[in-house]
Amino acid sequence: MTKRYPDGTVAVDHLDLEIAAGRITVLVGPSGCGKTTTLRMINRMVEATEGTITVDGRNVADIDPPTLRRGIGYVIQQAGLFPHRTIVDNIATVPDLLGQDKKRSRRTARELMARVGLDPALATRYPAQLSGGQQQRVGVARALAADPPILLMDEPFSAVDPIVRASLQDEFLRLQDELEKTIVFVTHDIDEAVKLGHRIAVFQVGGTLAQYSTPDELLAA
Ligand code: ADP
Ligand code: ADP
Repeated sequence: MTKRYPDGTVAVDHLDLEIAAGRITVLVGPSGCGKTTTLRMINRMVEATEGTITVDGRNVADIDPPTLRRGIGYVIQQAGLFPHRTIVDNIATVPDLLGQDKKRSRRTARELMARVGLDPALATRYPAQLSGGQQQRVGVARALAADPPILLMDEPFSAVDPIVRASLQDEFLRLQDELEKTIVFVTHDIDEAVKLGHRIAVFQVGGTLAQYSTPDELLAA
């Protein structure tokens, strides 16, 4: 696919990429090389100028965005939590929007808190009362609450200090072992890419791929 923004910037240039189901694919490269644009074309936050994006055999252009996004979770660097909702309520945002049973969704939210390593005592707090690392965990739990088969993650662990980041990465890998989501993960950090990715797409300036390989192949190169 290709993305040319209205001002003429070509952010992604004839990119051809196949994402493995149930694995973590990392998009890595310097700032401005088209990683976020690529991610956002998958859930149609950005419309491709040329080319086709196929999810589970269907052209995303044929799926209306709200339906598409129900199956595709999205986690970004700033967790983007709702400041006036408690932590459990934040995690249950999508189930609430879908009108699901409140008792059940709160139970699920509390289970997810445990799975992402959040102290249950934080359930009734508000986002501003949590550390940056804790807020990112809430962001991951909220994305998982909708139980989407696909998760797009854009630098989700970049805004926290290195020690917190390492523990977030470890828990994320443990969780992924169990859940086997199809994950597309953007980072500018090659160490993070090698640690998390089953497949690593190395982007270069101009929005093209320099390499698409396994972590071992990348390290050997
Ligand atoms: P990355 O995620 O690798 O940092 P982006 O996909 O955010 O890269 O951006 C790729 C290129 O597209 C950059 O040159 C950026 O400035 C440009 N770009 C991103 N969004 C827009 C936009 N809305 N309008 C114009 N140019 C944009
Ligand atoms: P970090 O080093 O990860 O950013 P902080 O120093 O922000 O951590 O927070 C450390 C602990 O203090 C966390 O458990 C967090 O929940 C708690 N905390 C931070 N800010 C508040 C607050 N305003 N009210 C209550 N607890 C807070």
